[in-house]
Amino acid sequence: MNKESIVICENCGRKFRCVETGNIWPGGLESEDAKCPYCGTIAFSSMTSGFIYVYKLDKESENDENK
Ligand SMILES: [Zn+2]
Repeated sequence: MNKESIVICENCGRKFRCVETGNIWPGGLESEDAKCPYCGTIAFSSMTSGFIYVYKLDKESENDENK
């Protein structure tokens, strides 16, 4: 049960993919931060019992711009 979304960083304006995993520790709800993988700014926080993973979308955007 993963929730995936594309986030644009407010600080550096770059896009990254954010994946929230669900229910690893049921009941252990905590605030997890989704940090920009480029500049480290916290894009948003989410109450989850799992983790938030972020992935750079650098390669995809570079390919678009270079063509
Ligand atoms: Zn950033």
